[in-house]
Amino acid sequence: MGLIVQKYGGTSVGDAERIRSVARRVARYRAEGHEVVVVVSAMAGQTDHLLALAAQVADLPDEREMDVLLATGEQVTISLLAMTLIGMGCPAVSLTGFQARVCTDDAHTRARIKEVETERIRTALGDGRVVVLAGFQGISPSGDLTTLGRGGSDTSAVAVAAALGADACEIYTDVDGVYTTDPNVYDRARKLERVSYDEMLELASVGAKVLQIRSVEFAKKYGVPIHVRSSFSDAEGTWVVEEDESMEQVAVAGVAYDRNEAKVSVRGVPDRPGIAARIFGALAEKNIVVDMIVQDVGEGDRTSMTFTVPQADLKRALSVIEPVAEDLGTAEVSADTGITKVSIVGVGMRSHAGVAARMFEVLAREGINVLMISTSEIKVSCVIAEKYTELAVRVLHDAFGLGGERPGGSA
Ligand code: ADP
Ligand code: ASP
Ligand code: MG
Repeated sequence: MGLIVQKYGGTSVGDAERIRSVARRVARYRAEGHEVVVVVSAMAGQTDHLLALAAQVADLPDEREMDVLLATGEQVTISLLAMTLIGMGCPAVSLTGFQARVCTDDAHTRARIKEVETERIRTALGDGRVVVLAGFQGISPSGDLTTLGRGGSDTSAVAVAAALGADACEIYTDVDGVYTTDPNVYDRARKLERVSYDEMLELASVGAKVLQIRSVEFAKKYGVPIHVRSSFSDAEGTWVVEEDESMEQVAVAGVAYDRNEAKVSVRGVPDRPGIAARIFGALAEKNIVVDMIVQDVGEGDRTSMTFTVPQADLKRALSVIEPVAEDLGTAEVSADTGITKVSIVGVGMRSHAGVAARMFEVLAREGINVLMISTSEIKVSCVIAEKYTELAVRVLHDAFGLGGERPGGSA
């Protein structure tokens, strides 16, 4: 017997039959004597649908109102799941982020959880009910609805698990674990039995959307082990846990890609101190996260800067950059959305030399031009033309031997 937090993603609650299937699993755990908090996403496609609606009525939708809109998606699923459970004779109560008091900052559409007040959840659990909590949403210090960014229900689940001191945090999704690369892109991807927090953080940050990055940050900070598993089976999934020695033995644990970035180039900027601070300061002020940055070798007193931002923020980024560029007398601002960032990740990179060089070689052999590069201690990322995404993922996966056995890590 224990306290279990289970999170079900959009596909897992995509229609009435799937909601019934989730309810059956939840009821089974409760019947076994566990206390269960279920965190759910909006039904598959709903968040995209709401975003598309907003785009039809406003060019740059007001972010506070965007959160009011997006939070409705999860409200639909919590009520449907709670109704289903009650209908099955399993006492349950739905709670929105507001009702449960998932407290966030006020960064609308990308809010961070500051604290989860557990009183209401604990009272409901104490009454013998399953708590069905809306993922992805919270409440700002001024009492407004907030959302946590795409994939945010993962973070809701881990934050609630940490706040409650839960015995387990299970993330149920449409694949049965974390793979060496996206199994929907490469059928030779292999399920990992265990992956370290640091590797998962990097994988998530470079596009492996199976877990939202902030959920892994939370899990690492509060020592919450995450079990990523399939909502369609009882198979053991992948444990995201502290690093151990076996994980260091392989250089590369996984390959990820991200098609959702855009490359922005600002050409002909004055080559003098303070210009980068001005450009990137303006973006930071609008909460736009810049990923890679390259400044070219200047020609005369002018240079150019190229950087990447999430495609979703591109319009806003350009609306910030264009006036700054004009002010600087800059020749040209251009954007390219036809790019992908491919990355290799592994804690073993700390002790294996030549991993980056090998990555460039493998891409070059396929005639794939590398447009930008960035590295961290346990990651190398390259920006390439989007049309090469699948090819790059496959050749890198094979070149680093990911189809084979990982010591203690294969399933
Ligand atoms: P959910 O709706 O359950 O939150 P997501 O679509 O957010 O599910 O995340 C699951 C998806 O993540 C999978 O369907 C898969 O295509 C993708 N994915 C990307 N990289 C990986 C990886 N390394 N391992 C597993 N899944 C991955
Ligand atoms: N519904 C949100 C999204 O689609 C949150 C989530 O599914 O985790 O991004
Ligand atoms: Mg997700």
